[in-house]
Amino acid sequence: MANTLDHSPVRDQTKHGAPRLDAVIVGAGFSGLYLAYRLRKLGLSVRVFEAGGDVGGTWYWNRYPGARCDIESLDYAFSFERELIDDWNWTERYAKQSDILAYLNHVADRFDLRRLITLDTRVTALTYDEGAETWTVATAAGVVASATYVIMATGCLSAARIPDFPGRDTFAGATYHTGNWPHGGVDFAGQRVAVIGTGSSGIQSIPIIAEAAAQLTVFQRTPNFVAPAWNHVLAEGAAAELRAQYPTRRDANRASFFGVDLPANPKNAVDCSPDEQQETLERYWAMGGLAMLACFADVIINAESNKIVADFVRAKIRAVVTDPEVAQRLTPTNHTYGTKRPPVGTDYYETYNRENVELIDVNATPIEAITPTGIRTSERDFAFDSIVYATGFDAMTGALLAVDIRGVDGQSLREKWAAGPRAYLGIACAGFPNLFLVTGPGSPSVLSNMVTSIEQHVDWITDAIAHARERGIARFEASRAAEDAWVEHVNVVAHYTLYPHTDSWYTGANIPGKPRIFMPYIGGVGAYREHCAKIAAKEYEGFVLTAPASVA
Ligand SMILES: Cc1cc2nc3c(=O)[nH]c(=O)nc-3n(C[C@H](O)[C@H](O)[C@H](O)COP(=O)(O)OP(=O)(O)OC[C@H]3O[C@@H](n4cnc5c(N)ncnc54)[C@H](O)[C@@H]3O)c2cc1C
Repeated sequence: MANTLDHSPVRDQTKHGAPRLDAVIVGAGFSGLYLAYRLRKLGLSVRVFEAGGDVGGTWYWNRYPGARCDIESLDYAFSFERELIDDWNWTERYAKQSDILAYLNHVADRFDLRRLITLDTRVTALTYDEGAETWTVATAAGVVASATYVIMATGCLSAARIPDFPGRDTFAGATYHTGNWPHGGVDFAGQRVAVIGTGSSGIQSIPIIAEAAAQLTVFQRTPNFVAPAWNHVLAEGAAAELRAQYPTRRDANRASFFGVDLPANPKNAVDCSPDEQQETLERYWAMGGLAMLACFADVIINAESNKIVADFVRAKIRAVVTDPEVAQRLTPTNHTYGTKRPPVGTDYYETYNRENVELIDVNATPIEAITPTGIRTSERDFAFDSIVYATGFDAMTGALLAVDIRGVDGQSLREKWAAGPRAYLGIACAGFPNLFLVTGPGSPSVLSNMVTSIEQHVDWITDAIAHARERGIARFEASRAAEDAWVEHVNVVAHYTLYPHTDSWYTGANIPGKPRIFMPYIGGVGAYREHCAKIAAKEYEGFVLTAPASVA
């Protein structure tokens, strides 16, 4: 399936015989595809390196049963070309994985991007050569290219993680990670299955695995607040009607807080009467999806208001789950509503009423080991045919730090980020010229509709590169002072909210030893976007733009 480099408009070769390019893009998901489209249009020689066997990123890897987006399909799609929008017919309110993957394949074909992509190729090292003012790009097999610009489109949720349980490799049955699911699917019929983890992927897959398996045992560390998706097939004509509103709808998304135009209630929960609170909560619950985040203006900033929302969801759990002890175990008590990514589910709580489903709280009875036959907790030995790890990702920094990135003076990104990620606007790092991050730490990123944020970053990076090229600028680099000030701002804004107080993958708390920092920017997509536009309008304030060494 791997493409060759032959079709790339290569200027010349490095001493390694590898192509010398204007830009290398790492990753071929939403970000990498759109970057390839934009940078090629700018006239750059471009090559995309993708570790996977095909395009699609998240939607190539996460093929677990029930995988689908939790942003409505119409909003979780590119907006950069009207014909592309009109071309594609989303059939469900929330598109399933296979539909999103088909869409991204369509994008690759429609814009003839495949010729720019080298598949099955994991970039392992990026080294900045100050003399040549280029990046050397290497894989395990050696140098594959050099480039003036490198853009990391490696994804915020692409470094799948399996906890280091003792005996993990001794299990004789089948083992799966939701983020690296077999392409042919898995038939769990008649099996005793374990699912470890109850984050978004667990929540989507558990109801479907429960239907197929003879017995399902769920190992839960942290119960989540799961809102109903109320997913449905879009009625005939509905998609076309929605598409007609598309320009306005997308503008609203861009200006919104979460990158999707949720029906925001301007009122604070604490200012409403109990009756009004209840009526509002029921109304937002009935909308489904992420709407609950917008049910009151102060949900994520006021602990008292947050408790009103959290108590409402807790009551919903008790109303569905028939066994009060199980309901209690499923009820979140150690974090506030919305400060972990709010999962959206279908029949999630109902699944625990099934005869063939058991819920184990690993706080009460920790997993001690994976054994050849199954899982041993402090209380019991369980026998399984399959173990599904729904244990998530080393989020936001995992895929970036998996690459040995060395900038000016050989400084490594791993060293620079040892105490937590630092990036100006979440886009660029001091000491790493001409290297850009898409939806990096310090940008709204995973707190938003990612497609809105990806398009904004790709557009901004493309404009920055065009600006540099037009003015003969060789080095485009964030200044240390601007980076420090931005990191401080991200932190200050985060502490106006309840987010930093919750252990989550937003704070790196799911990875032992990872610095505990709230990584994304919670200032809101609209405000962030305006700020980035102002920086660009001020000739890229906070960046140091340097002429080529030869003419400096
Ligand atoms: C199950 C799941 C559901 C999600 N649902 C939503 C949703 O509903 N709404 C939403 O906004 N977001 C959602 N997300 C987040 C999702 O990741 C983004 O929306 C979006 O797909 C990210 O696109 P991307 O191109 O930036 O990164 P990705 O799609 O992650 O693509 C990155 C690519 O880079 C490749 N790569 C990484 N490192 C290297 C390397 N060193 N060398 C070569 N290739 C490399 C990876 O193989 C991957 O294919 C979800 C994520 C998951 C895991």
